[in-house]
Amino acid sequence: MANVCRRICSGLGQRLALNPSSRNFASSPRCFNNKEHIYTSEHDELRATLRKIIDKDINPYVDEWEAEGIFPAHKVFKTLGNAGILGVSKPTEYGGLGLDYSYSCAMAEELGTINCGALPMAIGVQSDMATPALARFGSDKLKKEYLAPSISGDLVACLGVSEVSSGSDVASLKTTAVKKNGDLIINGGKMWTTNGTQADWMCLLANTSEGKPHQNKSLICLPMNLPGITIAKTIDKLGMRSSDTAQIFFEDVRVPASHIIGDEGMGFTYQMLQFQEERIFATAAALVPLDTLIKLTADYARDRKAFGQSILDNQVVHFTLAELATEVESLRSMLYRAVGQYIQGHDVTMLASMCKLKAGRLSRQTTDNCLQFWGGMGFTNEVLVSRLYRDFRLLSIGGGADEVMLSIICKYMDILPKPQKKK
Ligand SMILES: Cc1cc2nc3c(=O)[nH]c(=O)nc-3n(C[C@H](O)[C@H](O)[C@H](O)COP(=O)(O)OP(=O)(O)OC[C@H]3O[C@@H](n4cnc5c(N)ncnc54)[C@H](O)[C@@H]3O)c2cc1C
Repeated sequence: MANVCRRICSGLGQRLALNPSSRNFASSPRCFNNKEHIYTSEHDELRATLRKIIDKDINPYVDEWEAEGIFPAHKVFKTLGNAGILGVSKPTEYGGLGLDYSYSCAMAEELGTINCGALPMAIGVQSDMATPALARFGSDKLKKEYLAPSISGDLVACLGVSEVSSGSDVASLKTTAVKKNGDLIINGGKMWTTNGTQADWMCLLANTSEGKPHQNKSLICLPMNLPGITIAKTIDKLGMRSSDTAQIFFEDVRVPASHIIGDEGMGFTYQMLQFQEERIFATAAALVPLDTLIKLTADYARDRKAFGQSILDNQVVHFTLAELATEVESLRSMLYRAVGQYIQGHDVTMLASMCKLKAGRLSRQTTDNCLQFWGGMGFTNEVLVSRLYRDFRLLSIGGGADEVMLSIICKYMDILPKPQKKK
């Protein structure tokens, strides 16, 4: 399978330079693709590779992992890493496929064929949330040590941004990394860390100096086996059951200062950039499950009879499903527009935030509306709709809550009230 990925990669290499700004999109075959704006047959081929892995190595075990409350991250990531799936848009020098972000988007969509929300999220943390800043700004040494083995699936990564008292307000986080004799001494803790109980390293956001909260933070590659790191607990959650979520404490954890990704003090900015890929990924990974739910619900409602007719034949039912399908299609179009602009090097903060906002709201609406049409069956643990109802509730909260997305959009629209100056 890795060969399929490498072949796609080398074929594309002749048409697409790795630097997005050097591409001539007007002559790219993707513009004339009559199926999807941003996808070509090569995207389909890559998706087919991932689909085989999902069908063979993931979906047959999902129920078991959901019941256990954890999935074997090292095993699953190694399988994905062997196929090149974890570094689709990462540089080839470190084992990535060097493709543009439309391929990552295609991968995220295909991950939506997994029968739960937890695995796509955990995989996304590895491929699109904990590693983009390292790939873009990290030193060669850090990339060799952390990026390459994360792409190959030998190391499991996690992202440490949120804390007990700082979630939406990232700038207010309290964890410190103080320089001493060429090392950083880390104290504090992280909350809600996906992959946290299994991770080999964390992309940690911490305060490396005092001063303005947007300029005093750095992203740091932190090995998770150091003295002073405690996995305090695995959090018991409403949904995303097979993904482990940890609370983690740091007490005088010592790491070389050279583990800072890029420039010291730029961590907040790098993290905001990193969030763009996280939000595009989260939107893309929601599309297939929403389509699937609508289809499964139509099938179920067609077969189920009440008051002498199929449930589906009630206008409120088929109209609702048509309405939802239309909304999913609009979300898909907005996502492809965001990705199209992103791979051309544009700032897509506003569009990516709109996508994430819409994905969260639409996921809640779709899972709720569909569950209703399943009646009592929808309330059991035997059907996908109830699992996705629980899992997708997260989309309006994690990676920036809906209200945070609205604030970003308002900022870009220049309608966000300015902070009041203290008198
Ligand atoms: C399953 C799961 C996995 C996660 N994985 C990770 C991970 O791997 N790494 C990581 O760093 N974090 C992770 N998170 C954390 C996640 O990103 C945060 O939960 C999220 O950013 C919200 O922060 P909070 O929970 O502290 O909510 P709070 O900041 O306390 O906000 C609570 C609510 O207040 C409202 N609110 C917030 N700001 C505003 C505003 N400006 N205007 C109006 N209302 C507002 C929103 O409704 C929000 O939901 C994860 C969370 C969960 C539940």
